[in-house]
Amino acid sequence: EIRVQDLHKSFGDNEVLKGIDLEIAQGEVVCVIGPSGSGKSTLLRCVNLLEEPTGGRVFVGGTEVTDPDVDIDAVRRRIGMVFQQFNLFPHLSVTGNLTLPQRRVLGRSKDDAARIAAENLARVGLAEKADAYPGSLSGGQQQRVAIARALAMGPDVMLFDEPTSALDPELVGDVLAVMRMLADEGMTMMVVTHEMSFAREVADRVVFMDGGVIVEEGAPAQVIGRPAHERTRHFLSRLL
Ligand code: ATP
Ligand code: MG
Repeated sequence: EIRVQDLHKSFGDNEVLKGIDLEIAQGEVVCVIGPSGSGKSTLLRCVNLLEEPTGGRVFVGGTEVTDPDVDIDAVRRRIGMVFQQFNLFPHLSVTGNLTLPQRRVLGRSKDDAARIAAENLARVGLAEKADAYPGSLSGGQQQRVAIARALAMGPDVMLFDEPTSALDPELVGDVLAVMRMLADEGMTMMVVTHEMSFAREVADRVVFMDGGVIVEEGAPAQVIGRPAHERTRHFLSRLL
C-alpha cells in the first residue's frame, strides 16, 4: 500500500507539489488525471524517490521511503515502474531484458531468472517473442515487455506514467488489457493516464490534480461522470 502525507516538491522557486495527501490501499487501483504540468509525474516519481521530496512523507508497504536511513534500493525492488518510453535495451533479446535486472538486482540464478521471465512474458501474451529483439516489436509489444520486466521483479505495487501515450491508437488496447488483468489479479496500482474509459472501468478511485494539488478525488463515476469542481469539468471537456 502507498501513503503520501503532505508531500511538497519544488524545483528551485517552482513549487510543483503543494501538499499532496493520498492513500492507496493494497489491491486498489488509483488513476491520476490532470492537465500537463499539474505535477502527476512528479508525484509518481516521488513515490519511489526518483525525485526527492522537499517536504512531507511517503510510505510504501509500511516502510517510510522518505526516512533518510531507508535502504532505497530495497524499497525500489518492491515498486514496479512503467514509463511512457519503454526503455528496453536494444542489444538484448526480450528474455535478456527480463533476466538482466532479476540477476543484477535480485541476484537470481540464470535458470530462475529465465523461468520467471518466461512466466511473465506469458502473462502479457508475448511468450512467442522471448528470443526477439525490441527493434522488431511494435510499440505496444515493447510496452508489454516493459510491464513483464517490472512484474518479473515481483513488485508489491506498480506505478504507470502514461504507459500508452507514445503508442499508435490501435496498439493502446493490448497494453490496457494487460493492465486490466493486473488490476483484476489484485495488484496495487497508481496509474497516470489520459485514457478516461480505462479510468472509468478499471480504477477504484480517480484523483484529479491541477496546479500541484489534488482538486478532487472519488469513484470514477463521480469524478469523471459528475465532477464537483469547475476545474475538473474544464479539464474533462477539453479531453472528450
Ligand atoms: P504531463 O501531463 O505533461 O506529463 P505532469 O502533470 O506529469 O505533466 P510534471 O512532469 O510533474 O507534470 O511537471 C510539473 C512541473 O514540474 C512542470 O512545470 C515541470 O516543468 C516541472 N518539472 C518537472 N520535473 C522537473 C525537473 N527535473 N526540473 C525542473 N522542473 C521540473
Ligand atoms: Mg507527466
